[in-house]
Amino acid sequence: MLIAANWKMNCLKADAILLASHIKSGFSGKNTLVLCPSFPLLAVVSGVLAGSGIKLGGQNCHFEEKGAFTGEVSPEMLKDIGVDYVIIGHSERRAGNNETDELVRKKAVAAIKAGLKPIICIGELGEERKNGKTQNIILGQIEKSLPEGSGYVIAYEPVWAIGTGLTPTSEEIAEVTGLIKQKKPQIEVLYGGSVTDSNCMEISKISNVSGFLVGGASLDIGKFSKIMNV
Ligand code: PEP
Repeated sequence: MLIAANWKMNCLKADAILLASHIKSGFSGKNTLVLCPSFPLLAVVSGVLAGSGIKLGGQNCHFEEKGAFTGEVSPEMLKDIGVDYVIIGHSERRAGNNETDELVRKKAVAAIKAGLKPIICIGELGEERKNGKTQNIILGQIEKSLPEGSGYVIAYEPVWAIGTGLTPTSEEIAEVTGLIKQKKPQIEVLYGGSVTDSNCMEISKISNVSGFLVGGASLDIGKFSKIMNV
């Protein structure tokens, strides 16, 4: 399985060193594990993880290689410091930074070109699920956010499940991941949204789920030890 930890805008240097050290010593090596700290922590976490086989991921990138884009980070810059993955189109960026499906695709294409593996997030809002629009929303995001070909991973993240403690049923996850696999059979699909130590085993058994994108629980070593070794 592929387990990606999205630390979001959390941890100062000392916290990150401690958390990454605990993760390194508790990791069984069974899964592919990717830690995605904030940009300023990438180098320090990279130092802690040296020799562990644990991969590093960014939480976002720009679609241009370089230039006058104040405050932005290019995929090439991430690759250059030893990053292998990058989260693209997280719902917090779609909502808070007006990231459209078209922009998500542009970023994903640029990331692949730079040699990174994008983890592209798609998922419906709570309102959309209530109104029976989940399938249409997912199909639209598949069509507009994803690049041609392969070289990326999809994270199915129902927006209403992120950070809420709510999760879809296993049947609901199977239904959406099945739909994604129908359209993109060659692409690995992760599930994200309130994954914890108590539900990771059950979700890992859903066929078509190849791993997790974990937010809150990835900051808690007690919970994450179980998730990363599921
Ligand atoms: C996320 O931020 O991608 C996420 C899934 O968060 P959480 O696990 O906290 O719901």
